[in-house]
Amino acid sequence: MSFDPNSLLRKHLVNLKSYSSARDEYTGKEGVFLDANENPYGSAGVKEAYNRYPDPYQQEVKQAIAKIKNIDTESIFLGNGSDEPIDLLIRAFCEPGKDKVITVPPTYGMYEVSAGVNDVGVVKVPLNENFQLDVKGVISAAGSDTKILFLCSPNNPTGNLIRKEDLFTLLHQFPNLVVIDEAYIDFAPDAGFLPHLHRFPNLIVLQTLSKAWGLAGVRLGMAFASPEIVTILNRIKPPYNIAAPTQGIVREALGNVLAKEKMVADILEQKNWLEDQLEALPIVQHIYPSDANFMLVRVPKPKEIYQFLIDQKVIVRDRSNVMHCHGCLRITVGTRAENEALLKAMALVKEDSFAN
Ligand SMILES: *Cc1c(COP(=O)(O)O)cnc(C)c1O
Repeated sequence: MSFDPNSLLRKHLVNLKSYSSARDEYTGKEGVFLDANENPYGSAGVKEAYNRYPDPYQQEVKQAIAKIKNIDTESIFLGNGSDEPIDLLIRAFCEPGKDKVITVPPTYGMYEVSAGVNDVGVVKVPLNENFQLDVKGVISAAGSDTKILFLCSPNNPTGNLIRKEDLFTLLHQFPNLVVIDEAYIDFAPDAGFLPHLHRFPNLIVLQTLSKAWGLAGVRLGMAFASPEIVTILNRIKPPYNIAAPTQGIVREALGNVLAKEKMVADILEQKNWLEDQLEALPIVQHIYPSDANFMLVRVPKPKEIYQFLIDQKVIVRDRSNVMHCHGCLRITVGTRAENEALLKAMALVKEDSFAN
């Protein structure tokens, strides 16, 4: 497939000169560093020294990710959470007030928020009642001005994998960029699209350390794409977008894939158990099948039950106003003790007071 992301780039970026940081101009590690106006003595009030700017391209972190994901470092872009590459992609390719993105609701809210912040329109092609793609609808909504199609698999808030054949069809037929957000792929019985990245120059796969790796507080999102797309993102990102503590913690964490896999296995075991327990509760009307670490659960009077659970100090997400999710709460799988607390609170809900 002939596809040049540079031809989709916003015009004013084509010749834009990016900031050249001190760490761009001299990349050696040895020497007397008097080039970045850093404090030579160390850091005030903390034991660790953070007085030096971090690696702007996070090479050591990328090498670790490259090994785990079996992908070249040139195909990896790292962001301050996945939110950063979502925003940068829109800023790079979508002309405000003119271009658009396509989303397939119900889905992750950040695509629309990020588009809105950038004054970029959103064309919505809803998923069907089974939370699967309307492939024909997406293709007929596509035009030269719909620069990015945002897909999410497993999808949030519905929890299901999107059918792979449909994703392949769209990758072949969508004329512009296709983002597949795989924030929950580690929980799913599927390898996702990284193994197919090299076949689709219009594909960007998003993953994150916020979920399976348990590093939401550290903020590290990953975008995998062609080296051409990665180069574009690098040109417009803030120079030092991944903090030194983040890079250090991430390198340490990536050295222990088994710890991540153990947690994923435990979470999946808890999910099965929680599903069984929830199913037995009279107020639970339906549990949607989930390929992630959360599930969508339909109850009568979701708002009242949501509030009742808060009163019991159990916090879930009310998704009942979201398209196709009427009556639904989104419940994250917790530890056994947390899940028991949820079940205990749910069991206290008086059926008669909340019945339709
Ligand atoms: C949680 C989540 C993310 C992660 O965002 P970060 O900014 O990396 O924490 C991305 N996409 C989806 C669909 C999510 O649910």
